[in-house]
Amino acid sequence: MKKSILIIALLSISFLHSQAHSHLSAKPLSFPDIPGYKSLKTDLHIHTVFSDGYVWPNIRVMEALRDNLDAISLTEHLEYQPHLDDIPHPDRNRSYTIALEEAKEHDLLIVHGSEITRSAPMGHNNAVFIKDANPILQDKAEDAFAEAKKQGAFVFWNHPAWHNQAPQGNPILSDFQKERIKKGELHGIEVINSVDYAQESLALALEHNLTIMGTSDIHGLIDWDYTEKGNQRPITLVFAKERSITSLQEALFAGRTVAIYNDLLVGKAEFLVPLLKASIIVEKASYVNNTQVLELELKNVTSSDLLFQNESEYSFYDSSPVFEIKAGKTKKVSIKTLIQKDEITLKLKAIGCFTAPNTQPIIQWAIKTK
Ligand SMILES: [Zn+2]
Ligand SMILES: [Zn+2]
Repeated sequence: MKKSILIIALLSISFLHSQAHSHLSAKPLSFPDIPGYKSLKTDLHIHTVFSDGYVWPNIRVMEALRDNLDAISLTEHLEYQPHLDDIPHPDRNRSYTIALEEAKEHDLLIVHGSEITRSAPMGHNNAVFIKDANPILQDKAEDAFAEAKKQGAFVFWNHPAWHNQAPQGNPILSDFQKERIKKGELHGIEVINSVDYAQESLALALEHNLTIMGTSDIHGLIDWDYTEKGNQRPITLVFAKERSITSLQEALFAGRTVAIYNDLLVGKAEFLVPLLKASIIVEKASYVNNTQVLELELKNVTSSDLLFQNESEYSFYDSSPVFEIKAGKTKKVSIKTLIQKDEITLKLKAIGCFTAPNTQPIIQWAIKTK
């Protein structure tokens, strides 16, 4: 009897332990891989108490694990240090090393980064995959960028449309950025920063071949600033050959990204189209008895709600041509093919997704009906 009580006690302890050890939140982020690449969920713009954020670096690691991210970077402002009297830290790598220590036991990549912080026209820029933050702290912005380049950093322009620095809410590409792009010192641009999306920043990305980025720029808690308000943290989905720091870096330099915030997905067509195609699985396709009405069950395997508009040559039997498939859910639609077919092409425009300003991609699925 005693023995069985002991076993039950041990079992329940191990059960509690395994429960406690699940790091995922109620709504973890999830996106499928695309042909040839792994889809890595990253947030490369994050603050802690080591600049103007409000939490210790280990909390950022735990938040990322809850959100099911693959990689994060703690990008402290090098030059803006409001907590310096309370937390003196002459070594500007501290935030990174603390996060690295925390992540050791977990499956999360920590990218070494810093935010180079100036007023307009230079603005704010994140240098990630750096080796040492200290020498990037320079009087002249030009010297900071040159040092970041020397370290092999991938550098992106943060919140270029931020109204504090661009009062019209549109990015202003100055000679400073043009020079940095020409010198190979600026490689990416945020089109989504926190809750803001600027299609004018997307236009700059496409015009100057800058990598499309989306980041949370979180200062408080992810839970308070995003989750509790019914939002997801913005991320950059990076299409990497492997799940490693070097592969991630290679993919960012190569521009293989989609920026995501809730149901908004922004990326070059060559990556956004295969992502959306892999995001919808046709679970069922069969004709209603003795009719030419084809029933489809479409499953959205992502964590984003996806909004579509029918662009097929067939009209729908039972649904508005504009419809949503909720994250992780299956939607039934019936289409009128007029004659029974062995195979049809379903064509949907993803109306919450953009490959260029005001340009939404049309995705095609070849569907066998047997
Ligand atoms: Zn900033
Ligand atoms: Zn920032």
